[in-house]
Amino acid sequence: MCAKKIIVIGGSAAGPKAASKARRIDENAEITIIQKNEDLSMASCGYPYYVGGFFDDRNQLLCSPAGVVRDSKFFWNAKKIKAIVNSEVTSIDKKNKTVTYVNSVTNEQSSLEYDKLVITTGAIARKPKIEGIDLEGITTLQSLHDADYLRKIRDEGKIKKAVVIGGGLIGIETCEALHLAGIEITLIELLPQLLTFLDRQIARLVEKYVQTKANVILENGVSSFLGENGKLTAVKLQNGTEIPCELAVIAIGVVPNSILAKNAGLETGKTGGIIVNEFMQTSDPNIYAAGDCIEIPNLITNSAVHAPYGDLANLQGRVIGENILKGNLIKFSGTIQTGICKVFDYGVGATGLSEQNAIKAGFTNIETVINASLDKPGFMQGKLLITKLVVNKSDGKIIGAQVIGPGDVSKQIAIWAVAIKGNLTVYDMSTADLPYAPPYSLAIDHSIASAHVMINKLEGAFIGISAEQVKAKINEKSNITLLDVRNPDEYEEIRLGIGEKLIPLGQLRNRLNELPSEKNTEIITYCKISLRGYEAALILQANGYKNVKVLEGGIMAWPFQREK
Ligand SMILES: Cc1cc2nc3c(=O)[nH]c(=O)nc-3n(C[C@H](O)[C@H](O)[C@H](O)COP(=O)(O)OP(=O)(O)OC[C@H]3O[C@@H](n4cnc5c(N)ncnc54)[C@H](O)[C@@H]3O)c2cc1C
Repeated sequence: MCAKKIIVIGGSAAGPKAASKARRIDENAEITIIQKNEDLSMASCGYPYYVGGFFDDRNQLLCSPAGVVRDSKFFWNAKKIKAIVNSEVTSIDKKNKTVTYVNSVTNEQSSLEYDKLVITTGAIARKPKIEGIDLEGITTLQSLHDADYLRKIRDEGKIKKAVVIGGGLIGIETCEALHLAGIEITLIELLPQLLTFLDRQIARLVEKYVQTKANVILENGVSSFLGENGKLTAVKLQNGTEIPCELAVIAIGVVPNSILAKNAGLETGKTGGIIVNEFMQTSDPNIYAAGDCIEIPNLITNSAVHAPYGDLANLQGRVIGENILKGNLIKFSGTIQTGICKVFDYGVGATGLSEQNAIKAGFTNIETVINASLDKPGFMQGKLLITKLVVNKSDGKIIGAQVIGPGDVSKQIAIWAVAIKGNLTVYDMSTADLPYAPPYSLAIDHSIASAHVMINKLEGAFIGISAEQVKAKINEKSNITLLDVRNPDEYEEIRLGIGEKLIPLGQLRNRLNELPSEKNTEIITYCKISLRGYEAALILQANGYKNVKVLEGGIMAWPFQREK
């Protein structure tokens, strides 16, 4: 039997992964990657860190773990994979099983036959069609070419002011990179919040932090780019404000690059991504697709989503490598849309659904809780973590988690992602056997403590109230008593200044007479993270108070202005 001919279109993440896995399964298959760019296997996720100066050697974006640049020679010598670079596939002939490609250096057109074809053409950065978009100084951060451009700007050190358009993952990572290059940043977001995978309150906490590094403007879009002599000089906002700058980075999202597939008659879906089944097979059984060019099911809502994440691209590529040679044996069932990004010294991550996305998806019986604590003991320089959990009220099944803070967010998100994928409940998590030693966690890990707080709430041990609800009550001038139960020295250091009364927890039992005597008075208790707030609520309830609530996450989760 002849060796199988496999062609992979696209040579960055999903493509080389599919090709390499196929080679590990069949030494004799004829495997060819056709890549539009000059480079192969680029670590796109590393671009912001190259631009930000975390490392200086560009080749590190292209290296294997052993430090060898993954160029055509590497692919041939190490993997017997032919990698044709600088070549764009311009058409697919499904009937005759051929692809046509054009070399961008020589303009030469060639054709190749395949038995199995893999499409991994990635995504395209969205760009607004507005006046001035072609001025010099406007870019995206999608390709290595873009990263080179921005890195050159860093190295030259001439540009002083930049505008980043879009407050998603890449926009925020770009802010940090340019900030580290000594550039003054204004971040513009059309929506009322940054990072829309987060709920508003959690996003506000991130915004408050980003504002210490960059000027953040929300609910305002760009109406045009202004320039002189072909060069950008300012960004004009929809409200008429002009922001002088020499650089603008557009980061308003990406769309699947599925035009080649569409033109070949392959089915695409409502997101514009190529439709694949669980074996990653397109509407043509001889053609598979993976990565940013496809759409996949969200495993919680069952709706098709575009999930442009590097980990998913690699996992899907691996599934294809196996399925094209062994027959459809392994499945990629979908995503729970787990993501994380570095926001200066904060980690910001989410998995599953936020409260607002759960409501949008039609979930009606959910419960949420916010928990704040250190990631490890104070004597080991523990850092703050703030978690918001979303669960089904009826059975405690976890459907979403958002975690932010300077602490170890990545570990927390990883725990919740596996819990959601494994259909676990907060009751399962409440006794999870996680590793513990002081350099790594608290004796009860923050994730388990978050599950405990949720269980207390589900079982009615306390009634929680969010910072946003408290703020609304203050604005409405509701008749509430706000009770901070920390010590006076803590109160001197930071305080909300929202009309609260300070009674330290240890004195509360003896000072109940300082609270309104009417037992139906609404009392909201809190401390730094609300553990003492919870204990205070229990004392008040035991003393007959019937309308006691705990400010979830305490002062640390208060996203509004504080007095101190
Ligand atoms: C700045 C940045 C930061 C990111 N950070 C993260 C992160 O921290 N975590 C995370 O999970 N994800 C991150 N991502 C997303 C991640 O990089 C992508 O999900 C991943 O690269 C997708 O892999 P892919 O193979 O599908 O597409 P790509 O990596 O885009 O590769 C597609 C390749 O196909 C080539 N191609 C396109 N059309 C043709 C054609 N017709 N013929 C031949 N070749 C073609 C393209 O030139 C490209 O090289 C980031 C992305 C960017 C841009």
